[in-house]
Amino acid sequence: MKKLNVCGVEDGENMENIGAYDAAHGIKFDGYLLVTRADGSKCERCWRYYLDVNQYMWANVCKRCNDVLEVLFEQDPTRIRSL
Ligand SMILES: [Zn+2]
Repeated sequence: MKKLNVCGVEDGENMENIGAYDAAHGIKFDGYLLVTRADGSKCERCWRYYLDVNQYMWANVCKRCNDVLEVLFEQDPTRIRSL
């Protein structure tokens, strides 16, 4: 079984047959989808879950968002105050 991470759902809370859903999109699949809580922490800027959130200069963001904030801060420090 492949693991799919979706936020806002308790582990094992939602397990359903997704055959009909995939059939509607032209994909043949006969199986079950188990939704579990994502690993890691939620980036406060992009709301995606990563294992490396809060390891960069800007607090509580992922690497991608940290890099964007650094560039924006270099361009105009008054533009970036806090998240
Ligand atoms: Zn992010």
